[in-house]
Amino acid sequence: MAQNRDGRVTRALMFSIPPSPALDVPVFHRFGPFIVDVSRREILVDDRAHSLPEKLFEVLMVLMEANGEVVDRDTFFFRIWPDENLSDANLTQHIFMLRRLLRELGGDERFILTVSGKGYRLGCRTESKIGLAMKSHCERCQSHLSADAAANICSYECTYCDACAQALHRVCKNCGGELQPRPKRAARLHAV
Ligand SMILES: [Zn+2]
Ligand SMILES: [Zn+2]
Repeated sequence: MAQNRDGRVTRALMFSIPPSPALDVPVFHRFGPFIVDVSRREILVDDRAHSLPEKLFEVLMVLMEANGEVVDRDTFFFRIWPDENLSDANLTQHIFMLRRLLRELGGDERFILTVSGKGYRLGCRTESKIGLAMKSHCERCQSHLSADAAANICSYECTYCDACAQALHRVCKNCGGELQPRPKRAARLHAV
C-alpha cells in the first residue's frame, strides 16, 4: 500500500494504485485486442509490447478501472492531475492522443467513447487480473477448462487447452510468451 512520508495513505495514491496483494504479483487488464501490463506500463498487442507516455497510461488506467462505466472529467483531473489546474482542453487533448495511439495499435475509435456532457468511457468491458482468478475457457477454441483440467498459460495467463497449445507451438498468440502448464487448483477458486 502506498504511503506518504508520515505514513498516511493518501486518497489520490490509494486510487491510482491497483490493489495488488504483493509486489511480485502481476497486475494487468485486457480489453478488446489489448493486454495492458500495469507493472511494466506497457500495452501488448499481437505479440508486441508498446510503452505509453505516463499520463496517457494513467488516463487509460482510469478508463479501464471504470470497466465501461462513464468517467466524468473531474475524476480524471482528481486522479491524474491532483495538483495541477488543467483545462477541459488538456483532457480532450489527452483523450485524442490516446485514441490515436490505440488506433495505431490496431484498435478503433469505439474503444474510447465520448459521453456528451459527462465524460468518457471504454466501449468494451475490461478483464482484470490480479494473481488469483483462473480462466474457464481456451482463448483459441473456446473449449471449457475446469479448474483441475490440463491447461497452458503465458505469464499474462492467456489460457489454452493442450491441443491449442500444441498447435501454437507453445507460444501465446496474444503476447508471444511461452506457454507453460497451468498449475491445477481447487475448483472452488473462482473461474472467470
Ligand atoms: Zn483450445
Ligand atoms: Zn499471452
